[in-house]
Amino acid sequence: MADVHSKEIRSYNMSKIRSKDTKPELYVRKFLHSQGFRYRLHVKDLPGKPDIVLPKYKTVIFINGCFWHGHEGCRYYVIPKTRTEWWLNKINRNIKNDAESILLLKESGWNIIVIWECELKKNTVDFVFSSLIATLRSH
Ligand SMILES: [Zn+2]
Repeated sequence: MADVHSKEIRSYNMSKIRSKDTKPELYVRKFLHSQGFRYRLHVKDLPGKPDIVLPKYKTVIFINGCFWHGHEGCRYYVIPKTRTEWWLNKINRNIKNDAESILLLKESGWNIIVIWECELKKNTVDFVFSSLIATLRSH
């Protein structure tokens, strides 16, 4: 059977697959676990398939790759110089999907936490993690 996917779509699909259990996500999970939080992963029946779900706190966490989710003003969000329009369409669609998922989740009473991959760098991670805990405890 002929491969109908263009090279770009293929590599996009590949990165979608890789994006499960990516390092940043494991990092956050490990931290939550160490703090005694219990969670579920990739809950498919929730909008946007949140990466981490804490039913007890009625909270979902998305850990967003800065590139794929179009982190505005982030230095890791740089649209490639080739096939620029294709990439923009792709990423703008992700941004739109994210916004829709968040809206739906909010409507059903979920608290939503979005952690950007760039926030998990050494100099900001402590702050991000402590505000994460504070937010969870407040719910
Ligand atoms: Zn970022």
